[in-house]
Amino acid sequence: MKELSQRFEGVRFAPFWPDTTTPPVTASSMNGELLCDIAIVGAGFTGLWAALKARERYPDARIAVLEGRKLAQAASGRSGGFAAPSISHGVMNAVTRWPSEAEKLIRLGRENLNQMEDDLATYEIDAEFERSGKLNLARTPWESEGLASMAETYKDFGIEGTFLSGNELDGWVNTPRYSAGLFEPNYAYVNPAKLVVGLARACIERGILIFEGAWVDHIKQRADRVQLTTQNDYVLARKVVLASNADRPLLGRLRSTIIPIFDYSIMTEPLSSDQLSAIGWQGRYGVADSGNQFHYSRKTEDNRILWGGYDAIYYAGSKRNDGLLDRYESYAQLEQNFLATFPELSDVKFSYAWGGIIDTSARLTHFVGAAMGGRVAYAAGFTGQGVTASRFAALSMLDLLEGAETERTSLRMTRSLPVPFPPEPFRNLAIRWAQADLAKEDENGRRSSLLKLMDRIGIGFGS
Ligand SMILES: Cc1cc2nc3c(=O)[nH]c(=O)nc-3n(C[C@H](O)[C@H](O)[C@H](O)COP(=O)(O)OP(=O)(O)OC[C@H]3O[C@@H](n4cnc5c(N)ncnc54)[C@H](O)[C@@H]3O)c2cc1C
Repeated sequence: MKELSQRFEGVRFAPFWPDTTTPPVTASSMNGELLCDIAIVGAGFTGLWAALKARERYPDARIAVLEGRKLAQAASGRSGGFAAPSISHGVMNAVTRWPSEAEKLIRLGRENLNQMEDDLATYEIDAEFERSGKLNLARTPWESEGLASMAETYKDFGIEGTFLSGNELDGWVNTPRYSAGLFEPNYAYVNPAKLVVGLARACIERGILIFEGAWVDHIKQRADRVQLTTQNDYVLARKVVLASNADRPLLGRLRSTIIPIFDYSIMTEPLSSDQLSAIGWQGRYGVADSGNQFHYSRKTEDNRILWGGYDAIYYAGSKRNDGLLDRYESYAQLEQNFLATFPELSDVKFSYAWGGIIDTSARLTHFVGAAMGGRVAYAAGFTGQGVTASRFAALSMLDLLEGAETERTSLRMTRSLPVPFPPEPFRNLAIRWAQADLAKEDENGRRSSLLKLMDRIGIGFGS
């Protein structure tokens, strides 16, 4: 295992966000059996939005959320908290993969972010929501061309964006690593653990039962109910929402639609205003670069810098376990790239380092569907952009359970399943091959024949 530098001395190997909040007290025990109208598996953003929105629709329903871990321990509490005005993993992904639906997807993504902000106000959830914009950066001439073409596409769809090149980047961020940028003002941020905790609190205040440590092992239909079995209890529900994200799906049909991709982050200590001035990063906007292997970076409320991404690690056999949530090689790589970006911060210390699991689908966007005669709805595949899309997916699942035909349920993007990943050992080989070609493209700007073939059949790989 690679040694970490002195900058990591005293680092806490855990996500930062849960340390900023106190979770509410959840329900104690099911006492063997629980009957309810709606049972939800998973208490991340998706499951909690589903519970809260179900309460709006059904004021008297008995609603229970079964969470196998503790609140905010999975992806939602580990995320970067970039809250995109998009449900399609960005505008360019919508335009490339669903050109005939792109306009609708883009509008729905923007509406979803606005509605999420309204919901946070209505439910008095302090998730440190701030709409401070995002600066996309380019390191190479081909990335710069990519951003220029993205700026054109934004114009076509009436999306605000300012292309910055050369000296125009001065005053935004002072770094030798990047040569162009595209600033989009309509991009928001949350403290993701505060969002989980706030949603959970709002649910509990409205009579929704949340059980932690309630890992569901089996799902089966029993007459007109669905039975969920945990180690000690079972739940009989009229309707079930599956919001288990990157964990092994309970429904066999979904098992090859997503793969677990590990993504790692490091975070500095709070920076002084002198340190922030030295790197020219004065505003509250987040920053992300544009390569296939990209970093995302933002400030916390107390001015630490989060620096995550780049590595997207797949462990053969779709292995997922807590032991893989730390990877020193990734932390060291992130540190190296951080210092190349901000050489003025060479004396900085890192206070937190952690990993999380992304549920990558082969087209980078979520999908929803129904099973067991419409009694069960599922959503998965958010890839690295689920902070806002999870809310949209939750609403889509409730529509499906109602049998309602809505604009959400009519989307081709969400209603078809993504191309499945091949079985092992081909899965591992294909991912390694694609990753090597993506890294080469970052260095030489040339797309390999394999990647072009994947483009033609609509398969992508990313985080
Ligand atoms: C490191 C990292 C950074 C990210 N950064 C961003 C970002 O900046 N912006 C963005 O938009 N997206 C980001 N994402 C993605 C985003 O965090 C996820 O898409 C989103 O949190 C998904 O929410 P969720 O509720 O579906 O999943 P989760 O938060 O993973 O919740 C699923 C829950 O289901 C529970 N569960 C699973 N199976 C069972 C079972 N059988 N029984 C009981 N419980 C079960 C799990 O314990 C878990 O708590 C990031 C992800 C990671 C890992």
